[in-house]
Amino acid sequence: MIPASVQPRQISARWQQELAEAITDPGTLAAALGLPLEALGAVDSAFPLRVPRSFVARMRPGDPADPLLRQVLPTAAELLEQAGYGADPLEEATAQRAPALLQKYHGRALLIATQSCAVHCRYCFRREFPYAAQHSEGTRWSEALAAIAADASLEEIILSGGDPLSLSNARLGALGADLARIPHLRRLRIHTRQPVVLPSRVDAGLLDWLRSSPLPVVIVLHVNHPNELDASLREACASLRATGVTLLNQTVLLAGVNDDAAVLAELSQRLFQAGVLPYYLHALDKVRGAAHFLVPDERARRLAGALAACLPGYLVPRLVRELPAAPSKTVLTPISITS
Ligand SMILES: *Cc1c(COP(=O)(O)O)cnc(C)c1O
Ligand code: SF4
Repeated sequence: MIPASVQPRQISARWQQELAEAITDPGTLAAALGLPLEALGAVDSAFPLRVPRSFVARMRPGDPADPLLRQVLPTAAELLEQAGYGADPLEEATAQRAPALLQKYHGRALLIATQSCAVHCRYCFRREFPYAAQHSEGTRWSEALAAIAADASLEEIILSGGDPLSLSNARLGALGADLARIPHLRRLRIHTRQPVVLPSRVDAGLLDWLRSSPLPVVIVLHVNHPNELDASLREACASLRATGVTLLNQTVLLAGVNDDAAVLAELSQRLFQAGVLPYYLHALDKVRGAAHFLVPDERARRLAGALAACLPGYLVPRLVRELPAAPSKTVLTPISITS
C-alpha cells in the first residue's frame, strides 16, 4: 500500500481523463479516421466540435458519410438560416419553475443538472440553451430542491442537461441524497448519452450509487445508430442492469444517419441484446442549424409503420414530437405498409 503522504491528492477517474482527451479539432478527427481534412468539410461553430475518442473508434475509417461522424461534425449545412428554426424550439423558457427546474408535464419535472456534455451533437435542441442563466453549475440547486419539496404532485425528477453523468459521482451522490429525502418522490430518472459515447463513465462509483439509491432509477440512454452499440457499450449496459435500474433508449430520427427502416430495426435488435428497451423515436426539434437532419413527417410515419411490421411491439419505439404547449409528447401515427 502507498503511504498516504505520497498519494496524489486527486486521482482523476479514467473517464474524466478520456473526457479531457476528447477530440475538439477537425484535423485530429480527420487523422483519426484516415481522411484528408478537406474530405470532412468542417466549419467553425460557436457550438464547437467535441467527441470522445472511444466514440470515434466506432466510426468507419475513411468514410466521410459515416452515420456517427455526421452526428458530431460541424459542416456548412449548419450555417444556413432556415425559416422555422430557432434558438428555443420547445419554448422551454416558459416552462421554468425555478432556476434549473423545468416542468411541462404532470408529475415529473426536469432538473438541468449541468450544462456540459461529453459530446456535442449537431442536432441538439439545447445547443443554444441559456444555461448560464440557470445557475446549474454551482451548488445552487437549493431553490430547485425547495420547489420540488413544496410540490407534492411531483413523483419523478428527471436529471437532464447537458448530460447529468458529466457530474462527478460525489456530486451525483449528494444530489441523489437530497432528492431521496423528499418523501413524495417515487422515481429518479436520468437522461444521458454519456455511457454511449464514453462507456468508461460507467465506473464502480457510479454503479455503487445506483445500487444503493433509495429511489428506483430509470436510465434513458440516447443511442441513434446500431454502430454505436458495440461490445464496450453492451458491457456498460450489463453493469448498469446488474444494479437493478430500468434501461430505456431514446433515438432522434436524423436524415442521413438513421432514416432507414433496416437501420432502425437493427438498432432495436441490438438494444434488446444489451438489455435496453426502445422508448421514443423523436422527430427532430427545429433548432437553428439542424435543418439538414429533418425527416419529413410523412416519411417518418412510414418508417414507424415499417418498423411495426417487422418487430414485436415491445421493440418498436413510439414516434413522438415535442410540442410547446401539449400535456405530453405527441405521438405521430405510423402509416402501415400494406402489400
Ligand atoms: C420529454 C420531457 C419529459 C419526459 O416525458 P416522458 O413522456 O415522461 O418521457 C418531461 N419533461 C419535459 C420538459 C420534457 O421535455
Ligand atoms: S448529449 Fe444530449 S444534451 Fe448533450 S449535446 Fe448531445 S443531444 Fe445535446
